[in-house]
Amino acid sequence: MPKIKSPIWHPFTQHALQAEMTRVVRGIGTYLYTSDGRRIIDAISSWWVVTHGHCHPHIVRAIQEQAGKLNQIIFAGHTHDPAEEVAAQLLKLAPRGLEHVFFSDSGSASVEVALKMALGYWHNVGKQRVRIVVMQHSYHGDTIGGMSVGARGVFNEAYGPLLFDVTSVPFPTTGREQDTLDALEAACRNEIPAAFVVEPLILGAGGMLMYPAWVLREMKRICEASDVLFIADEVMTGWGRTGTLFACEQANITPDIVCYSKGITGGALPLAVTLCRADIFDAHYSKDRTRTFFHSSSYTANPVACAAARANLDLWQDPNTRQRLAAIAVMQEQAIEPFRADARFENVRRTGTVAALDLKTRDSGYLADIGPKLHAFFKNRNLLLRPLGNTVYVMPPYSATAADIDEIYAGIWDAADALAGKDALLA
Ligand SMILES: *Cc1c(COP(=O)(O)O)cnc(C)c1O
Repeated sequence: MPKIKSPIWHPFTQHALQAEMTRVVRGIGTYLYTSDGRRIIDAISSWWVVTHGHCHPHIVRAIQEQAGKLNQIIFAGHTHDPAEEVAAQLLKLAPRGLEHVFFSDSGSASVEVALKMALGYWHNVGKQRVRIVVMQHSYHGDTIGGMSVGARGVFNEAYGPLLFDVTSVPFPTTGREQDTLDALEAACRNEIPAAFVVEPLILGAGGMLMYPAWVLREMKRICEASDVLFIADEVMTGWGRTGTLFACEQANITPDIVCYSKGITGGALPLAVTLCRADIFDAHYSKDRTRTFFHSSSYTANPVACAAARANLDLWQDPNTRQRLAAIAVMQEQAIEPFRADARFENVRRTGTVAALDLKTRDSGYLADIGPKLHAFFKNRNLLLRPLGNTVYVMPPYSATAADIDEIYAGIWDAADALAGKDALLA
């Protein structure tokens, strides 16, 4: 095999199988433009981050203005307007009862912060609680802590010995929800855990698995009854994806700790936050310096990233944004409808603006052979779609038009046709 050298080591990329990277020079709204003159429809919001469309003028302007004013400042002992305003707005929009905002710069970091807050809380109130309960098929990031609380598999096999043990409850599949609730109840009873961490309503990287709001509400109730901290990882589900600003709204719950990232800047710059209830902050509040929350990153609450987040929050004040969400949800529902009766597909599903369908294949899972074939097919069609194994999902920016959605699903339909002839499918 001739080796193709790449000076850049790309994420989640097997360089021996993918020599050519698509070189993108411009992004506007729902479209990406490549160096060789192609226009690509971004059907996955550039890995789930872009919400209002690429290079939204209001966010671009905010970044430009802030960059020339104050673009970085140590956040220990210092503060600035963009961070203050983002925090104040977030506390207004997030579920009632969350009172403090801790900034970081990625979803993984926000989850690490959540876990450290939970463990710090129990440590500081003098209770020995360290065990974490998680949900099967979850994803919480690629750091050691994030992987520890996420699903084990081929992604983290090499690092397994370093990951800490957790207790896992089954995913609430339709009709088997009670099994999840029973397992959670049992997990909360024996050797009381420190926290339960879960992605509300949609498990993203685990395969766009969806479950109803009443299960989320029940899980919160069980944790509350056992005094187990409830951590909602809304890194992907936040910022409108599930049809409401945050997924927890639909269950009418307030988590003890919640993580937001991805769409927090509209997808323009990296930023994340971890919000918590007052008692968690208060357990660290003391004249005793050993009770400090010992966490930071160099770019904590970077002013330019915060300015982008502030601009994103402005856009959420505009009623037009919520109308766009509702419109996308309707378009998605109409687009998936014909696939429900299509024998080549199963588990056709949607929550809010996110839709997913599974191609029936001999082999499934993230490394299923069908994945790269689909990927190549969509690339030729100038569609940015990145199936999770045999699961094809569509998570468009809210700038997408009905014509864009039609084009995306025509591509999915044709992909199934093209690949069916190649013995890839059972149907
Ligand atoms: C993407 C994601 C993360 C990790 O976020 P990064 O910004 O990639 O570190 C954590 N949790 C969930 C639910 C995610 O979807």
